[in-house]
Amino acid sequence: MKFQSPTKKHIQLLKDILSPERVSSGQSNLDLHSIDQSHHPPSRPDAVLWPINAQEVSDILAFANQENISVTAWGSGSSLEGNPIPVFKGLVLDFTYMNRILQIREKDFQADVEPGVIYQRLNTRLKHTGLFFAPDPGAHATIGGIIANNAGGIRSVRYGSARQNVLQIKVVLANGEQITAGSRSLKTSSGYDLLDLFVGSEGTLGLITEATVRLRGLPERSVAAIVSFPSVKMAAKAVFDIIRSGLEPAALEMIDTNCIRLINREDSIGINESPSLFIEFYGVAKAQLEQEMDMVREISRHAGANGFVSGIGDRDRNALLKARYELGEKIRRSHPGRTHIVLDVAVPISSFPETVSFAKQESSVTDIPFYIFGHAGSGNLHLVLMGKTDDPTEWAAIDRINESIVEMAIRQGGTATGEHGVGIGKKKFMFTEHGTGLKWMHNIKKLLDPQGILNPGKIFPLSK
Ligand SMILES: Cc1cc2nc3c(=O)[nH]c(=O)nc-3n(C[C@H](O)[C@H](O)[C@H](O)COP(=O)(O)OP(=O)(O)OC[C@H]3O[C@@H](n4cnc5c(N)ncnc54)[C@H](O)[C@@H]3O)c2cc1C
Repeated sequence: MKFQSPTKKHIQLLKDILSPERVSSGQSNLDLHSIDQSHHPPSRPDAVLWPINAQEVSDILAFANQENISVTAWGSGSSLEGNPIPVFKGLVLDFTYMNRILQIREKDFQADVEPGVIYQRLNTRLKHTGLFFAPDPGAHATIGGIIANNAGGIRSVRYGSARQNVLQIKVVLANGEQITAGSRSLKTSSGYDLLDLFVGSEGTLGLITEATVRLRGLPERSVAAIVSFPSVKMAAKAVFDIIRSGLEPAALEMIDTNCIRLINREDSIGINESPSLFIEFYGVAKAQLEQEMDMVREISRHAGANGFVSGIGDRDRNALLKARYELGEKIRRSHPGRTHIVLDVAVPISSFPETVSFAKQESSVTDIPFYIFGHAGSGNLHLVLMGKTDDPTEWAAIDRINESIVEMAIRQGGTATGEHGVGIGKKKFMFTEHGTGLKWMHNIKKLLDPQGILNPGKIFPLSK
């Protein structure tokens, strides 16, 4: 793939399309847009642009397409697989200024937003309505980045990932054409599902300039519990038993002993230091919630639980959730001189216990510090490995561990990535996962972006 580097003349023309102060080739701006939150090496773009409306995005793409300059979209750069790193340099389109909440339609449980809206800000705005946007990746992510990565988070076991929470998007294609995909209806049988095609496409097929997202009712009541087990395998088996029983938790998270030690040390929460599940239910009636918790207690007892703390109040629950959200950061802080890799696979729920045991066994072979956690109720496992930053032997071992776990997940009928996306890190597994289906993904890419200018170097194994 050969792209043109933008010349001084190109930059001047781009300044004419936007305005001079929204086009930068300054070193600090290039650095800020060279790396996300992953371990992948940085790559500086040639220039960063900040559009303020769809027409500007369209004009930039038409221009870049004509001049064969690559364009990578940027939300807030919180990805964990190198998704927004401009590996072929070119232009980065930062959506920070397209951050308006355009309309909240309470009666339809919908909101129209620009892609640069940080989802926590939308939820703060929605508080008085009793509604909220459910995908919850924890980091300060934008709605555009959440949709483009099909991100999920803690409550995806109940509300799904981005895909289940977006109804309609406006998209600018590589040639500058503007289209709308989806509708504001909850149901549709109308033709091919272009909306789903763009969700999770990581800015490789088109750039989102507006989204109508689905909102959910804030729960009237909730109950939460922490259940401890002698081993991660037993905890994972209990996850399977809970889901199989037909219970529908709002959150079902697994955290291993290493994570709990860290949380206890930094937040003084005082959880039993053994592999644990955090379980939460939402509902209307107190009696129903109590019944659900009783069932969880019974199932956990059968699964060998050695600790059960239920009826956690709002304060403790929020403290625990906060600690869970900050886990990635805590892990990083506690290992100076080391870099993290966050593995993300998802498997059918019956394979979850086996996958968790395998991940633990593979990681235990070396002395590299590791942490296991995940959105267990969705069969989604995360493993953080902390490798010495400049130690190629450790990184070769990490690569091996990563590969063996991802390949095992695919063999189980699962996927190389449950929610972080393919980015750079998961490209090499795409053929194993999709087989000849990958060729058809590539055909779609060629149809929508014939010159391959949109976020090149991502998703497809041969793209670099
Ligand atoms: C501490 C931490 C915890 C996390 N926890 C979770 C978690 O629990 N669940 C989870 O799913 N993720 C999690 N993530 C990953 C990350 O937050 C999500 O993937 C998030 O959706 C990225 O959003 P962003 O705005 O930062 O997008 P970016 O990282 O900037 O971009 C993401 C991708 O979207 C593309 N893109 C951005 N804007 C647009 C647009 N307008 N149109 C088209 N393409 C666009 C980019 O090119 C890139 O490919 C976590 C990250 C961190 C750092």
